[in-house]
Amino acid sequence: MFRIKLFVIGFLCFPLLAQASSVTLQVLGSGGPNDISGRASSGYLVWIDGKSKIMIDAGSGTALRFGEAGARMSDLEFIGISHLHTDHSIDVFSLIKRGYFSERGKPLTIAGPSGNDDYVAFSAFVENFLKSYSYLNHYDLEIKTIDASLPGKGLLVWSEGEIKVYSFAVEHANAPTLAYRVVTPKGDIVFTSDNNASAAGMNAFIKDANILVMHFPINEQDEESGQPFWHANPSKIGQVALKAQPKLLVLSHFMDLSLDNKSDSLNKVQASYEGPIIFAHDLMKIPL
Ligand SMILES: [Zn+2]
Repeated sequence: MFRIKLFVIGFLCFPLLAQASSVTLQVLGSGGPNDISGRASSGYLVWIDGKSKIMIDAGSGTALRFGEAGARMSDLEFIGISHLHTDHSIDVFSLIKRGYFSERGKPLTIAGPSGNDDYVAFSAFVENFLKSYSYLNHYDLEIKTIDASLPGKGLLVWSEGEIKVYSFAVEHANAPTLAYRVVTPKGDIVFTSDNNASAAGMNAFIKDANILVMHFPINEQDEESGQPFWHANPSKIGQVALKAQPKLLVLSHFMDLSLDNKSDSLNKVQASYEGPIIFAHDLMKIPL
């Protein structure tokens, strides 16, 4: 479905921009909100033709990693935030400040989920922050709030030529949360973010990716209280990956719970999914 849309829209509207001779995923942060192994929290860059064009999540520590990766704000076109927990979102403000020190010819698009009774909408999240820091108000931003209500639907949230980013609402307890699919002529990268893997339609959204990034914060023994759950355990991740059939599964967003029982947790994933798996670490680069 995504490839068909990609071809038709790209061909009709952006024939001169239809280039992506190289695409690389770089992990900026492979950790979670607790302090383990010196990892930054959730964040990923998609390099396209040597430019740091797309960023998914901007958790704490990722602004530092952004600089260490050699990424440039002037090349960045889109930041997609999965949800408003600080380990996915808070460094977006550090990046906005960093952007002041570089020129850009058009707005930086930043996007995130709609709100509910417990969480403000992404636009309010950003605007409330900017009200408190008026000196940041003049940066050229396009702020997009994306429908994160369930059941999710695939939404086109950003495009440039044949490069497209789609979102899909997933279930992360009471936190409105978005998965993202980055579609390029070289292949697709899917970021499922934090979720319990039970959202209707998620399997179709994530299917057949070249790289599927799934978050791995808990081990099999963790008992989450209440419903719905926050996270999928390793067995569930394996079952989802089995159906999704990515060319490569990248496990990321480690917390002490998942690292303490790493080999046991990996066995639980591999009980269902037998394809290639990589454990993410900060600044790791994976070309498509
Ligand atoms: Zn998280």
